[in-house]
Amino acid sequence: MGYKIDTQCIHGKGGQEHSYGAIPIPIYQTATFSHPGIGQSTGYDYSRESNPTRAELENTISALEGAYDTVACSTGMAALSLCLELLEAGAHVVCSEDLYGGSVRIFESVGRRRDLSFSYIDTSDAALVEQEITPATKALYIETPSNPTMKVTDLRAMKRLADQYNLLLIVDNTFLSPYLQNPIALGADLVIHSGTKFLGGHNDTLAGFLCTASPELAEKIRYYYKTVGSSLAPFDSFLLLRGIKTLAVRIEKQQSNARKIARWLKEQPRVEQVYYVGLPEHPGYEVNASQARGTGSMISFRVDSEETARKVLEKVRLIVYAESLGGVESLITYPMLQTHGDVPKEVREKLGITETFLRFSVGIEDAEDLIADLAQALE
Ligand SMILES: *Cc1c(COP(=O)(O)O)cnc(C)c1O
Repeated sequence: MGYKIDTQCIHGKGGQEHSYGAIPIPIYQTATFSHPGIGQSTGYDYSRESNPTRAELENTISALEGAYDTVACSTGMAALSLCLELLEAGAHVVCSEDLYGGSVRIFESVGRRRDLSFSYIDTSDAALVEQEITPATKALYIETPSNPTMKVTDLRAMKRLADQYNLLLIVDNTFLSPYLQNPIALGADLVIHSGTKFLGGHNDTLAGFLCTASPELAEKIRYYYKTVGSSLAPFDSFLLLRGIKTLAVRIEKQQSNARKIARWLKEQPRVEQVYYVGLPEHPGYEVNASQARGTGSMISFRVDSEETARKVLEKVRLIVYAESLGGVESLITYPMLQTHGDVPKEVREKLGITETFLRFSVGIEDAEDLIADLAQALE
């Protein structure tokens, strides 16, 4: 019988023993491996293809996500780029409209040059998704909750469409992490993570994961993985394994902080709207509760003016004005200039990513200290 998820964070699939009784897996800092004899292998030949430290990490992520296989990549974008290798020229993809800005950038540059096309729509409305599907459509690409406006997409409804029209269902699960949501159990074929965020958790390294649900997809991905060389280094694999050991406790604390902060923000006169899936009035609250084990720690909010937004960014002391999310340190970002700076202005404004819109990744500091910092910045 498999272990529960908080145990898996620490022991992976369990039963692993390392040389000399070492508790964490050693960092196998080697590019290549000697062969015991002609035509023989230790199981490892060359680290671009596979490495024991990285394999331990990949097995841990597969256990957490309920995946058949996982490849660990140098960044989240490397994982997404690998995923694009599965699409043939001419393929069309229906995407959530407010994706991570870097995802839109790779689709519109690399993707378009490969003759792929992308529609960006509000995937929280399954009827809209169905209307966008054409004979060329080969995949659905979903973020739920979305980045940064926190729209929730019903993954079971996407799975029904994927089955009906024979599409790949791809989910970027970075925002909730495998601790709170497992898209493969709901029918996804591929799950992407920026391991830089919650999985690494300490704002100190980059990583990405591409999890596959079936042996057929895993075989194709493994082939492209060793061919293009998206591999995560052994030392970074170790840092990720170390980060994941505290994933459960970090996320519980971040989430409990986020709930308090979201409720507090709602009462502030200069705050006009709070976007947090943990607020019962959030339009996606019920759907999220039906498919995830929690509401995470990403909050966006709209303030009364551009001046207030800029003041908040300049005046925060404990909270850091920086891109990224999911780490132990609380970070605040200005999506208009940072994560979504490359998204065309009309698209951005239609989504509500304007001068007054801020995104807050809640860390594990004391909630009262975070609230006091926001309070002085909003004064
Ligand atoms: C950060 C992020 C990415 C890209 O990951 P990197 O590790 O920065 O390359 C992709 N998707 C989401 C939702 C992200 O937040």
